[in-house]
Amino acid sequence: MIKQKEKGVLIVISAPSGAGKGTIISELLKNDNKGRWLSVSTTSRSIRTNDIPGITYNFVTEEEFKAKIKENYFLEYTNYSGNYYGTPKEYINEKLNKGIDVILEIEIEGASNVKKIFPEAISIFIMPPSLKDLVKRLKRRDTDSDEKIIERFKKAYQEINEVTKYNYVVVNDNIDDAVSKVEAIIKAEKCRAQRIEEIILDIKEEEIHKLLMDEEFINED
Ligand code: 5GP
Repeated sequence: MIKQKEKGVLIVISAPSGAGKGTIISELLKNDNKGRWLSVSTTSRSIRTNDIPGITYNFVTEEEFKAKIKENYFLEYTNYSGNYYGTPKEYINEKLNKGIDVILEIEIEGASNVKKIFPEAISIFIMPPSLKDLVKRLKRRDTDSDEKIIERFKKAYQEINEVTKYNYVVVNDNIDDAVSKVEAIIKAEKCRAQRIEEIILDIKEEEIHKLLMDEEFINED
C-alpha cells in the first residue's frame, strides 16, 4: 500500500466584513469536523450580540491583551479599527503535526505576518461579488451604527485593493460555489509535492519478490 504522511495545512482566510467569510468557514468545518480546527482569536474589542465568548473570540481587556503580548503568547497580533486582535500560538503546531488543518480567520496584516512565520501557509481572500453587494450585506447586519458601517466599508475597500498579496481569491457570489472552490484549493494543496513529508511504502521484502514473480499482476492493466 502506498500512503503519504501529511502535516495539516495552515489556511489563512481573510475577507472584508460583510463578504460572507463566517458562513464559508462554518461550512468548511461542517464538511470535515475532525480534520479541521478553527483557531479562536483573542480580542480587546467589546462583545457583540452574536458573539459567544470562548467560541467566536476570547475577550480580554486592553491591559490583559498587552500583558499577553509581553508574555509572547501570540503568533501574530494587530490593532484593527482601534481594537487588538491576536492568534494564540498554543495548539497550532500540535494540530498541524497531528495532520489537522488549522484555519485562521484574520485580517490582511495578520495574514502577511503568518506567511513570514509559516511560508507554506495558504492564504485565501474571500471577495464580495460587488461593492454594492458589500454595502447591502453590511447594512443587513443591524449590530453596527451608520458611522461604523461607513468605517467598515472604507476598510473593506482598502483591503480589496491588497488582494494580490494572497495566494487565492474566491468571489462569494454563491455560497455553495465559494465553499467548493475553497475545498478544491485545500485538496490541491495537500497534493503539492513539496508538502509531502514522506511516502510510506507499506510493503515487505518477501512481498516485493512475490510481486515481481507474479505474471498475472504484471500483465494486469
Ligand atoms: P470583527 O471585529 O469583525 O470580529 O473582526 C475584525 C477583523 O479582525 C476581521 O477582519 C477579522 O478577520 C480580524 N481578526 C480576527 N481575529 C484576528 C486575529 O487573531 N489576528 C488578526 N490579525 N486579525 C484578526
